[in-house]
Amino acid sequence: MSTFDLLIKGARVVDAKNHRDEITDVGIKGGEIAAVAPNLAPSEASEVMQAQGLLLLPGLIDSHVHLGISACGFKMVAAAGVTTCLDMSGTSDDLARIAKTNGAAINYGTLEAILPGKNVPTNDPSTEEIAAFVNKALANGSYGVKILGGHFPLTPKANERLVRYCQENGVYIAWHAGSTETGSDLSGVKEAVAAANGGFLHLPHINAYCRGCPEKAAALSIVVLQILEANPNIVTESYLSSRNGSNLVCDENGIPKSAVPRKCLANFGFSPDKKGLVDAILSGRLAVMKDGQDQTILISGKEGADYFLDQNTNVSGSFSGLNPLSSRVLCATAKRGTSQAFTVDALSTDGGCIPRNVTLKAGLELVDLDGLTMLEFVKKACLMPARILNLPTKGHLSVGADADICVADPIAKTPVRVLAGGNTVFENGKIFNGVPTAFTTSKGLSFYSSQGIPVREANPSFEPLNRFN
Ligand SMILES: [Zn+2]
Repeated sequence: MSTFDLLIKGARVVDAKNHRDEITDVGIKGGEIAAVAPNLAPSEASEVMQAQGLLLLPGLIDSHVHLGISACGFKMVAAAGVTTCLDMSGTSDDLARIAKTNGAAINYGTLEAILPGKNVPTNDPSTEEIAAFVNKALANGSYGVKILGGHFPLTPKANERLVRYCQENGVYIAWHAGSTETGSDLSGVKEAVAAANGGFLHLPHINAYCRGCPEKAAALSIVVLQILEANPNIVTESYLSSRNGSNLVCDENGIPKSAVPRKCLANFGFSPDKKGLVDAILSGRLAVMKDGQDQTILISGKEGADYFLDQNTNVSGSFSGLNPLSSRVLCATAKRGTSQAFTVDALSTDGGCIPRNVTLKAGLELVDLDGLTMLEFVKKACLMPARILNLPTKGHLSVGADADICVADPIAKTPVRVLAGGNTVFENGKIFNGVPTAFTTSKGLSFYSSQGIPVREANPSFEPLNRFN
């Protein structure tokens, strides 16, 4: 029997936890990292991959994706070098169905969103109603819960009740800032930080609250970063894409139902209605999402406008050039005081089905610009999100860690081969079908077993986040 199932030779191996950035070999056995050392013998391995000139990183961990908007999310994530991700809104039922029919053998967890009128009666649920929602979500396989304040807001008091309930009961809680009284902006950030009251809260996509007018984005970012420095109990990520993602469906009067496209249209000088959407698509500023087999694609121009109208406006879309570069770069690179700890803990995409899974490409571009060192990039894209989610065998390449690996081309900044638990999920442009493994708390294990989805128990940690090494 071979010592290694797979031996990857001669790559530049980068592992933030072990402070390793060197050309060496990596041996994999039984789904785990078995050895990281130079000159491992090819004769000891069942398969040898020559990886000279390539990068070898822990598989990326994306702590903010959306897998349920189309049928391609798991595959798009895998093709982006991500081996573990956290879905921020999809129900476990919906995702389980996609996982089994069009999945990739990566790892995923879910946060179920609290939706007034759907899983709680109103936007002001009582503590009893909140407890019923949370416990049902956990029994349904969710790793925790999410407040979609910017989209489906609760009252400030209900948000406080939900955050307190989760903190007191050890439940993972994320909050897209905003309530019935505040927006998805600085006012919402301040409200969420106050409601966390010194306890755990995951505040997603921090750059998205810094949009404002483009010329104010940098100033807004600095204010938000100062708030995060003063409140180390808040964990957060930011994304690097200039694109957004939003549903474009219009009501019977031809007005987009979501406030997001209305705001974006006005921002770019289009009328905030169906005609404005068509004009924006024709101009290329807005693209509509269309499902392919493995990837959701973006189409604009006449083809995009025709598709939008054919679908009766019931499509999702993505505006380009929306997130200012200044806030993306500031949020990705800012550090706490004079320390080596990042102010925003991790890089994410808010992608998945939305084609903006750019952490590898844009992150390596930041390395080219000396905004991050290669070790810092790996810390933010792999190690810190594993710590946030409390997945101790992920995000690094220690012997015994899960063999979750992204081998990437450093020039093209694209994955060449992606392995999760030692299994190849992507190689040379091909995405392999497979059933992902869920991570969930003890309360959700039986849900996944009943669905026939492999599952591993994980439990959120509310210890102070280790940001320093
Ligand atoms: Zn999101």
